[in-house]
Amino acid sequence: MVAGVKQCSSELASEAIELARALIRAPSMNPGGTEAAVANILATPLVDAGFAVDRHEFADGRTSLVARLVPSAPKGPPLVFAGHIDTVPLGAAGWSFDPFGGDIVDGRLCGRGSSDMKSGMATAVVAAAGAARRGKVGDGIMVVVCAGEETGCEGAAALAEAGLLSRARAIVVTEPTSNDVLIAHKGALWLRLVATGTTAHGSMPHLGQNAINRLIDAVEAVCALRIEGTHPLLGDVTRTLSQFHGGMNVNSVPDHAEATIDLRTVPGVDHASLIAEIRTAVRSVVDGSVQVEPIADLRPLDTLPDHPWVASVRDIAADVTGRGQPGGGVSYFTDASVLATAMGDAPTIVCGPGLAEQAHRTDEYCHVEDVRVSVELLGRILAAHVRETTA
Ligand SMILES: [Zn+2]
Repeated sequence: MVAGVKQCSSELASEAIELARALIRAPSMNPGGTEAAVANILATPLVDAGFAVDRHEFADGRTSLVARLVPSAPKGPPLVFAGHIDTVPLGAAGWSFDPFGGDIVDGRLCGRGSSDMKSGMATAVVAAAGAARRGKVGDGIMVVVCAGEETGCEGAAALAEAGLLSRARAIVVTEPTSNDVLIAHKGALWLRLVATGTTAHGSMPHLGQNAINRLIDAVEAVCALRIEGTHPLLGDVTRTLSQFHGGMNVNSVPDHAEATIDLRTVPGVDHASLIAEIRTAVRSVVDGSVQVEPIADLRPLDTLPDHPWVASVRDIAADVTGRGQPGGGVSYFTDASVLATAMGDAPTIVCGPGLAEQAHRTDEYCHVEDVRVSVELLGRILAAHVRETTA
């Protein structure tokens, strides 16, 4: 029995590794590419295992999937595995290997998206398909495959808007955590500041109104604003001045300038109030000449560590990884920002193969062993779901 289970899980692990390699070989950089090819590769094993798969494009070729395998009269909502299939671009530096080769070297699966998060998407799909093929799904399994996460969870938001998401019993987002269980992450509030002025000859600045100077004053006002809020796992709110452009030529007073600011928030910080405070602070130094508009508005994740489902998953993860799993937090956001709310405030964790510090890096890789561990861990989380929701 035990040998049979082990063999089955090692076959699934091989399947997940091959699937992750195929996903890496289908580039899906964002910005600059599309996710359709990756979505098609993932749809096949889900359809073969009996899932009903809905495709949704929020723009041409920007394909997300919602796969459902739910019994005819479930007593409760399904368990959800979720993740994203876009990657960041390659960056300016050269890679020491083919970023789209999907090669395995010294136990490392190499390529763009290997850690963030094509391995996690592969293990989610293979574990779900494996459970489906055994014919046991309890109250059901859903897999949510999102396009467009890297630029602000556009794919997940579009799925919610299209009404394709339903209530979940619980959600596992398989972003790279080295298979540790995370229960909290920061939210993001991305702002664009647009300054206007009046152009004039550079030798006669008194005739113009300098948009760059106004933008500098506005940005300084945002940076000086005191933002309350701290979290035991996440720390404080941070802000990063991430872009600043303005001016046309050396000898004119500029009449247009733009900046972006990336705020990372913690639970308890209300984004709508924060935007209002920022607008007030900006208006107090530059009147109405600088407009503040949100580009992305994503809530933090803050799951209770002792929620019964979370506690049971922490126990399973501790057993599979051999490490204590108190439930940690990270500063980056995930699709959980959108999915947790859209799926009925379901208890949500982030737990998947790959190294968070490999995300977005040149020469990105994922330990192959992480993929094996993830397949076993997700398989056991599914098995517990089936046990707990089968009458
Ligand atoms: Zn990611």
